[in-house]
Amino acid sequence: AGNRLYNFSAGPATLPLDVLEEIQRDLVDYKGSGMSVLEMSHRGKDYMAIAEKAEKDLRELVGIPDNYKVLFLQGGASTMMASNCHNLAAATDSADFVVTGAWSVKAQKEGAKMLAKANVIASSKDQSFTTIPDVKDWKFTEGSKFVHICSNETIGGVEFKEVPDVGNRVLVADMSSNYLSKPIEVEKYGIIYGGVQKNIGPAGMGIAIVREDLMGNTRADTPSMFDYKLMADNDSMYNTPPCFTWYVSGLVFAKLLKDGGLKAMEQRNIEKANVLYGAIDGSGGYYVSPVDTKYRSLMNVPFTLAGGEELEKKFLAEAKAEGFEALKGHRSVGGARASIYNAMPKEGVEALVSFMKDFQARNA
Ligand code: PMP
Repeated sequence: AGNRLYNFSAGPATLPLDVLEEIQRDLVDYKGSGMSVLEMSHRGKDYMAIAEKAEKDLRELVGIPDNYKVLFLQGGASTMMASNCHNLAAATDSADFVVTGAWSVKAQKEGAKMLAKANVIASSKDQSFTTIPDVKDWKFTEGSKFVHICSNETIGGVEFKEVPDVGNRVLVADMSSNYLSKPIEVEKYGIIYGGVQKNIGPAGMGIAIVREDLMGNTRADTPSMFDYKLMADNDSMYNTPPCFTWYVSGLVFAKLLKDGGLKAMEQRNIEKANVLYGAIDGSGGYYVSPVDTKYRSLMNVPFTLAGGEELEKKFLAEAKAEGFEALKGHRSVGGARASIYNAMPKEGVEALVSFMKDFQARNA
């Protein structure tokens, strides 16, 4: 695939080339079925086999205990910010939110619509969301139904390095932008959720991993599509599922298993991130990472140029011309951001770093 770019988009994001090629090979006539996966009934035997294998592989990859259900859902992470509340709390209940960036802000705001109260029990807003408040300082609310975190803030680039100890409270984590980038201690969570369009597959689906005993308590007016028990009882096929995204995600799960699983993935992600952060820190202040070194994301690496906005524009324009795609920082924070998800090869990061060094030498 000679003219593929290095795509640093935050999502939808780069996919593994071998998976794309497998999709291409099987596209028009999926394994002798006479049709493509895009055209199949989700109830037919070919598609059922695809769906079941995807779940089986994901369970093996993550080590999901039997008392957790895996749900493949439409509506993405944004929908689950609402549906989590409907499954875990009554409209008269409250929940606790730890606010570490744009996405946990959104979860809290959605929670405020669904619940009597969405308590902000800790926030790094005063540090411009460049760090994560110490769990020792979180002010848990008596009687609240769950504690919500965003395990990796895609825009700010801050990532939890350990699962916070919330005692016997129900921990809910948005893993959209670091799903499957490292091992997951599933049993420490009540609900793990996220969209797949960053680290897993194409857009159009979210995956929730839900502890079984937390299901079955929705409200009288909860939409059926929000009801995790109903979805689980129907193997995520209460209605027509996002078939193609589910299929491609399944190919990625199989690939991750073949490539050594999540521990191996984490090792590769650490190596890639070290290359990029090393270049930023080694630039003598030319490139700057705003994030607290303790919480720097392995997935989303925002950085600025100390030389200012005009220089940043030049940097981004030249980078694009050189085939480094989507490096512009989120419109809310500016600067640059490299998203280096699982599917970004180490060579892509190394190529970016050599461009950065070269640009610095030419524009010092
Ligand atoms: N949470 C995080 C951490 C995200 O990065 C995003 C997407 N950028 C979302 C939630 C929203 O995801 P979706 O578009 O699937 O609703």
